[in-house]
Amino acid sequence: MIENPQDRLPGRREVVRVRNLAKSFGENTVLSDVNLTVLEGTVTAMIGPSGAGKSTVLRCMNLLERPDSGTIEIDGHVIDAERRFSNRELFALRRSAGMVFQHFNLFPHMTVLRNVSLPQQRVLGRSKGEADERAMALLTRMGLADKGEQYPNRCSGGQQQRIAIARALALDPKVMLFDEPTSALDPEVGLEVLEVMKELAASGMTMIVVTHEMSFARSVSEDLIVMADGGIIEQGDPKRIMAEPSHPRTQEFLRAVL
Ligand code: ADP
Ligand code: MG
Repeated sequence: MIENPQDRLPGRREVVRVRNLAKSFGENTVLSDVNLTVLEGTVTAMIGPSGAGKSTVLRCMNLLERPDSGTIEIDGHVIDAERRFSNRELFALRRSAGMVFQHFNLFPHMTVLRNVSLPQQRVLGRSKGEADERAMALLTRMGLADKGEQYPNRCSGGQQQRIAIARALALDPKVMLFDEPTSALDPEVGLEVLEVMKELAASGMTMIVVTHEMSFARSVSEDLIVMADGGIIEQGDPKRIMAEPSHPRTQEFLRAVL
């Protein structure tokens, strides 16, 4: 069953709208006709077996992959795969979505502070002073006030992931995209990262979180998307889907992870 989140969470603005998204790599059709809507201030969890196309959806939303067809709209910036778009449009869309990866992807040769500060200077044109100040505020919010002058490889995995979150937030995105942010971490370290993500959700950030953390999906997310074989097979209330999955592939997946 695929529910429109507007029916359950009325009166919220649509921040993300993906329509008829398709993507192939050579002969391999990875996404076909993906449609999804994410409402402002909500957390949408995305689950499904490995290879379902979850990462590719997020990567298309941030234009790390170029969609073959369909449209992606984030906060009013529209990318229509059939149309050529200017660098300005591409840049605006990319800026509106902050991405956090499984393997952090920090710049190893820069200090923690510089990791969070430099993108603001490059992308938003902020002065160094302004960017450093914002970086310190975010690092403090992430519990990393004393790490600014360290290099990332001196930080634990959980710290590195929180630095990556600070770096993405520093660009003032309209939506944060998380691709299995805790999968590379030991469980107790993963909890630190989930705590930070919960706080972010409580502060009203719009988030899409690809995760195998079912307790996070159940207790934090307001909408759940289940993917299999390059499409969305189920969407709706996380508690309902987990209790009574309607699609056989969802039942199979939940049996394996719960
Ligand atoms: P998930 O995140 O759900 O595990 P992915 O979106 O990573 O799934 O991958 C979906 C499919 O797309 C897989 O079959 C994968 O091998 C393929 N794929 C992903 N990225 C690429 C790429 N850059 N080149 C070729 N195939 C890819
Ligand atoms: Mg993936």
